[in-house]
Amino acid sequence: MNAIKVISFDVEGTLVTTDFSYGIWFEAMPESYAQRHGLTIEQAKAVVEEEYRKIGDQRMEWYDINYWVKKFDLGTRDMLMDRRKHRVAYYSEVEELLSELDGNYTLSLASGSPREFLHYLLKDIKSHFAHVFSSTSDYRQLKDSHFYENICREMGVRPHEVIHIGDNWQFDYCAARDAGLQALHLDRSGKRHDEGSLADLSQISTFLR
Ligand SMILES: [Mg+2]
Repeated sequence: MNAIKVISFDVEGTLVTTDFSYGIWFEAMPESYAQRHGLTIEQAKAVVEEEYRKIGDQRMEWYDINYWVKKFDLGTRDMLMDRRKHRVAYYSEVEELLSELDGNYTLSLASGSPREFLHYLLKDIKSHFAHVFSSTSDYRQLKDSHFYENICREMGVRPHEVIHIGDNWQFDYCAARDAGLQALHLDRSGKRHDEGSLADLSQISTFLR
């Protein structure tokens, strides 16, 4: 791999653990629902999770906290999110890695998380990134090949000059490759060891030489 100008990262599951989002979707949301509708936490969890299942992660509503807060009649989203902000955590190699890469490459974020979430998720690392793209907030689309084409156009680079790294096989690896980007799949479980697969982000340097 060569001629890389931009290193693009997914956010959740790649730089930031999923603890914050999990805490919102599977703890704070059912807690608020239980309070609002006079149910036990267990009852509320069953209702909320069933509604999530009906939508599924291939539809935009899945990612839209405003949709869910309105649907469940919970007032404002800010309280839900503030309640879990202490759960934002970066994977151990992230801060050092970003400091090393910053300056040698343009660093960029290509996330499926809405901006409301990125506001919390990026708090300690945002300064490293020249671009922050949210597919759901900025383009109202999932991370498909058109999204990656759009962000390359917006950054003024050609797809092959960008390497994208993320933990979702469909949204990060396949979609980015389909758009002509170089792509690496991050699999922190370490089980999948094919050519484009990394067990943690410190292995990126091998692909940048
Ligand atoms: Mg991810």
